[in-house]
Amino acid sequence: MKITIYSWSISHHPERRSTRTHGKAFGQFQYPTPPLARPGGAQAKLLAEINELEEARNIGILIDVYRDYQRGIMPSGPGARDLISLFTSVDGRLHELSENAPQIVDNDLEVVAMLSTRARTLHLGTANYCWFIDPAKALCLRLAGTPDADRPLAGMCDSARCPQATHHPCHRPVWDESRQTTKVFIGSLGRRQKTERARLEVSLARAERVLAEIDQVAAAGVARKDEI
Ligand code: SF4
Repeated sequence: MKITIYSWSISHHPERRSTRTHGKAFGQFQYPTPPLARPGGAQAKLLAEINELEEARNIGILIDVYRDYQRGIMPSGPGARDLISLFTSVDGRLHELSENAPQIVDNDLEVVAMLSTRARTLHLGTANYCWFIDPAKALCLRLAGTPDADRPLAGMCDSARCPQATHHPCHRPVWDESRQTTKVFIGSLGRRQKTERARLEVSLARAERVLAEIDQVAAAGVARKDEI
């Protein structure tokens, strides 16, 4: 299997931050054979390949989120502060390297190395990124009563309340659709359906709050871009 990765350029210096990508920002995967065309007994190898692909995909996503952060587009959601704190520490470490070992500054592999542990925790939700760092903090597991599980329960995800969830501009369409659909449902309710109305209004408020947060960080990023 051929995997081509990590040929992008990231600068931690604000004045040199660049969105320019040198070559393909992230992996191009080529299966030598279609993955499902394996003979029996090759399952373990296939799974290992899938894990490898997931890992490469995740680091690519995290690098994109880091690049957004460098442009001033912050993550939002309950887990945003933690992710921003990680990026701040990456910037700090890069700054340190630039002071002490300038010859390896701008070495993209340094960034990849610093982000790879976090990337391994990433699970892709429909409406959020899930950074499954600590099962004890996973709201879905708490709701399901399985706090020791080793994977998140996407079906029970409540990303607006889980401390391991972040929202990003790419999640906006899903939340917007949720808002529109919920409004339609509320409009179709009869006057006596008070419980259902109350439940949907909570959902609507949640969707509107998440959207407002996503829009706020996106606007801040645009404002910053205009300043530069
Ligand atoms: S509630 Fe959602 S974001 Fe939180 S751990 Fe579960 S799946 Fe991940």
